[in-house]
Amino acid sequence: MAKWALVAHGGAGVIERDQLRPEQDAAYREAMGRVAQAGAAVLKAGGAALDAVEAAIRILEDDPLFNAGRGAVFTAEGDIELDASIMEGGRLEAGAVAGLRRTRHPISAARAVMAHSPHVFLGGEGADAFARSRGLEQVEPAFFFTERRWTALVRELQRQGLPIPARPAGAAPAALDARAALAHDEGKRGTVGVVALDTEGTVAAGTSTGGVTAKRWGRVGDSPIIGAGTYATNAAGAVSCTGAGEYFIRLAVARTICALVELKGLTLQAAADQVVQRDLTRLGGEGGVIAVAPDGQMAWSFNTSGMYRARIADGEAMVVGIYKDDP
Ligand code: ASP
Repeated sequence: MAKWALVAHGGAGVIERDQLRPEQDAAYREAMGRVAQAGAAVLKAGGAALDAVEAAIRILEDDPLFNAGRGAVFTAEGDIELDASIMEGGRLEAGAVAGLRRTRHPISAARAVMAHSPHVFLGGEGADAFARSRGLEQVEPAFFFTERRWTALVRELQRQGLPIPARPAGAAPAALDARAALAHDEGKRGTVGVVALDTEGTVAAGTSTGGVTAKRWGRVGDSPIIGAGTYATNAAGAVSCTGAGEYFIRLAVARTICALVELKGLTLQAAADQVVQRDLTRLGGEGGVIAVAPDGQMAWSFNTSGMYRARIADGEAMVVGIYKDDP
């Protein structure tokens, strides 16, 4: 039986120790730890890496602290467009969705595309319609709304000199907004992702995001692109990314990390560092990655001041971090 392991991220960006209030710091650490434990519970019980990834990401999608699902950022038109992808490293099966507006859990929609369609990637209305046809919960756009993200949109549009769209109908319930008020503005972005290794020795990766504040209608980042924001192969490992998607796409970050392990024999950490600290930085992109390998190696690497993260493995104490100098 292989050793199980799981790593989670809640986005990378400008996250500095002196910028977060103590209650924000505590809320992020608690959320990342809780999510890692939830994923670990699946793996400990002998569950599949894919199930652990989906279960953990669904929790993050419902938490308005993170830019995925509920609490996602708005497009320039004031809409929510959600992207997600998932991949399993044994049979190289993958599913992805872009531009969802109605599906509560984009990661489950991505998994449904993988499991129940002949396709890998569905976009826009067709993706929501497919999720609906698979019985996945559909919600009104107001479900995703938080005051905090709306304010961030208005501020960003003002900065760019762009028109401010009408406020969407239906505001968030007070409790949701109170939680969202704890969210730190990492710099217009954010994403959630989980990678896992199960006791069968299979790895899986998943990523879910609202994208970037004031993004253009129809803009798709790296998160739902297999090979860019997400990749998994039992020949190397599973990777989930967060950061400036336009850079991650051009470097095919997730697949490149796996290729360096598989073809060049680098350790997972060395491969992640090479792509993030060297290639991404050279290109001018910012962000980070998490990864796990079939032999239990875990890695993270980011060139921003912080990344919300947690890792946990069979027989090892959980590690939760936010800032660069956290362990
Ligand atoms: N990668 C995401 C995107 O470009 C954003 C992020 O991870 O911060 O849509």
